[in-house]
Amino acid sequence: MMKRILCVVMVALVVVSFGLAQMAPEKVDTIMINKIKEEGFKKSQVMDFMSTFSDVHGPRLAGSPDYKEAAAWVSQKLTSWGLQNVHFEKSGPVAKGWALKRFYMTAIQPKGFPITAFPKAWTPGIKGSVTADVVFLNAKNEAELESYKGKLKGKIVLISGVRDLAAHFEAEGRRLTDAELLRMANAGLPEAGGGRRGQFGQFGQMTPAARDSMMRAMIKQTQPDADEATIARIIAQRTEPQTMAMKLQFCQKEGALVAVDAGRGDGGTIFIASATVPQPQAQPQGQGATPAVRVNAYDANAPQIVPQVSVAGEQYNRLARMIEDGQKVKVEMALDVAWTPADSSFNIIAEIPGTDLKDQVVMLGGHFDSWHGGTGATDDGTGVGAAVEAMRILQTLGIKPRRTIRVALWAAEEEGLIGSRSYVAQHFGERVGGGGGMGGMMGGGGGELKLKPEHEKLSVYFNHDNGSGKFRGIYLQGNEAARPIFRAWLAPFASMGATTITLQNTGGTDHLSFDGVGLPGFQFIQDPLEYETRTHHSTADVYERIQADDMKQAATIMAAFVYNAAMRDEMFPRKPAAAPRPARTGSN
Ligand SMILES: [Zn+2]
Repeated sequence: MMKRILCVVMVALVVVSFGLAQMAPEKVDTIMINKIKEEGFKKSQVMDFMSTFSDVHGPRLAGSPDYKEAAAWVSQKLTSWGLQNVHFEKSGPVAKGWALKRFYMTAIQPKGFPITAFPKAWTPGIKGSVTADVVFLNAKNEAELESYKGKLKGKIVLISGVRDLAAHFEAEGRRLTDAELLRMANAGLPEAGGGRRGQFGQFGQMTPAARDSMMRAMIKQTQPDADEATIARIIAQRTEPQTMAMKLQFCQKEGALVAVDAGRGDGGTIFIASATVPQPQAQPQGQGATPAVRVNAYDANAPQIVPQVSVAGEQYNRLARMIEDGQKVKVEMALDVAWTPADSSFNIIAEIPGTDLKDQVVMLGGHFDSWHGGTGATDDGTGVGAAVEAMRILQTLGIKPRRTIRVALWAAEEEGLIGSRSYVAQHFGERVGGGGGMGGMMGGGGGELKLKPEHEKLSVYFNHDNGSGKFRGIYLQGNEAARPIFRAWLAPFASMGATTITLQNTGGTDHLSFDGVGLPGFQFIQDPLEYETRTHHSTADVYERIQADDMKQAATIMAAFVYNAAMRDEMFPRKPAAAPRPARTGSN
């Protein structure tokens, strides 16, 4: 046996070395890479940038006046470094600008205490300071709602249940382990398609009673031992978006002053996003949703909605429990908002012009917009910071790239990659017909690909949007031809922990707009740190959560990657054109 194994190993080695001999090794200018490292690590300006960008120019809600002011500051900064062609390009529709002017909530009865809370984006305001009774709308279905008829007018209404806030037995911040990185390195080609549909996705259009009984039957099938309480809990979780929409509609009809829910998060952190517009027909959120017909709070045709605020979990629970206990709870609050013209939906572009291949373009970027609860420091301030610091490093070194290097800071990523999708459609191409506008977002999708002449000229795009964590490698996005190139480009950064190349995809952000029209668009593997547990879309997305050394490493690697891409003899290799997807059949 041993001999046979040896023999197989020998053959394998010959095949591997023959394969390598076919390919010219990727050239790397190590002298220049060392200069980039020197500038990026020893003379970094990234944390100075991050301080002003997050503290003074954050948050940057899509379409808001804050976004516009931040864009003016950044474009002036880019110009002062000597970058060329600094300009704004109009992006897709966020029809309503919104800004928070003043907000507070404080309990005044049965005793006074300040309430930690945050208004949802695009919520309507309330006139002046008001004092109102708090009502706990403790209803799980329409029948239970009926008992609250006539009792909500002018009231502050608690619309979610008491939340279970368990102890944290695991650290919130962490880095990828060697075992996790090895698993990523060994992963095969990702499955085609946009992923599994939500198991309960088809229930959106049913009456609540029919939906619940069908869910109950399905749960019984897969979990025959589930008791009534477990079944009720699963159904409640799965139908929460519809239940909340129903309660919001009820609050509105009854003339409630404000609808308050228990914000996700604990320990003072509140995760916060947009106010909800109850949909004409309940639409399940997430996978299986039909976003094409969803009405958003920032849409021009958005209906009037009830003001919406999230209260920190522990305090929400306290208010709800006090009311259940028979206490009369009164709260004083103010919620002033401003509606502004829709003139802040644009991408920010700047360049280092190329030389002999200047018509060809290498791009890098992150999204400029953020949610409004923190200062958008890690989502995606760190992406903006890394991309502009990469540009500063290259400009300071006075490089004369062969291809043009272009940084793009995207509008309205949080609302569905709106800025990058609109840029890609205007410059490179788009899918027409087929599965609707979400095609590009899902990294492919249906529809006929209509290309523009610039499609030929875009070499590669690098995106940064996974928080503050340092780079540990890169996702190939299914492009195997990129592997030996990235292997050579990462080599100078091996001692800094960036070594892993995975065939896996990563989704959810702006490189997908490029990938969706057949252009090489990549994102790096990053240490998660506290991103999912604490900072992503929360009131804790602030300067303190940025790790300075990680930022320097990411900015330096980005600079090196775009430099290498701009200087290599060939354009960056593309994936072979995708074969048409087989139609979805049966009950997959
Ligand atoms: Zn983001």
